[in-house]
Amino acid sequence: MRLEGKTAIVTGGAKGIGLAICRRLAADGARVMIVDIDEAAGSAAAESLAADGSVRFIAADVSERLDVHNLVARTIDAFGPISILVNNAGIVHAADFLDIEEADFDRVLKVNLKSAFLCGQAVARHMVAQVGAGNKPGVIINMSSINDTFAIANQVPYSVSKGGVSQLTKVMALSLATHGIRVNAIGPGSIMTDMLASIAHNKEAKTRILSRTPLGRIGDPSEIASIASFLASDDASYITGQTIYADGGRLPLNYTVPV
Ligand code: NAD
Repeated sequence: MRLEGKTAIVTGGAKGIGLAICRRLAADGARVMIVDIDEAAGSAAAESLAADGSVRFIAADVSERLDVHNLVARTIDAFGPISILVNNAGIVHAADFLDIEEADFDRVLKVNLKSAFLCGQAVARHMVAQVGAGNKPGVIINMSSINDTFAIANQVPYSVSKGGVSQLTKVMALSLATHGIRVNAIGPGSIMTDMLASIAHNKEAKTRILSRTPLGRIGDPSEIASIASFLASDDASYITGQTIYADGGRLPLNYTVPV
């Protein structure tokens, strides 16, 4: 129960990695506000995680400023001061570079990168005021990807957005360090969710992923949630500005294994 008494917002928390993070933070004792654009999945997730009201759901598009201001105010009303923000919502758009439409490029950047800025700024302003009132500094976690570093030809806007998320993490960490607020990112490799299924839907794609993953398997969302729990806790009290990669060895080992 290392997060007992804390309030967390998790964006994109209705499914996949975000849902696993909500489940883990709730198990660690936090009150959790699931924020997602998918109303049906978000309501079902909140109901399934806690019947006692300690996990709730707000429907919002986190790339829209008014939605963001509304969700921050509603979370404070429901649970009190926010101590943890996980900027997890994200989308992919697969296309070759020469075929990418401007609207698709803008949409991916808006959902994956601008949302982390909007939510990060709105929650950080609240956290700074909380520190001024004598409360403990909060923690912000951004969901990046190994694609912040690793180029994939048909994932141009996605890779650019994740490079931006990792750099946003560093500038936020630097800007907020004087208030004691820590900001870190997680860089998953291939994790079994709907998003991965949408881009690796056939056997060849899965074989390609496994051939570049030294541990030889696709990750589980709970393996990302445990890092979020660690980063949100006092166990990570001297860590800020980092992207922690969890990718079965893909990025650091740069190795192709037989499958
Ligand atoms: P997912 O598609 O399973 O879940 C994403 C969630 O975000 C969904 O519930 C969706 O409704 C929500 N969402 C999308 N747009 C939104 C918006 N505008 N406002 C609010 N909610 C919105 O994806 P996932 O695989 O769980 O990915 C979660 C995060 O992890 C993403 O940022 C993704 O880029 C990152 N990531 C995933 C993988 C992977 O292999 N699955 C790898 C690296 C990074």
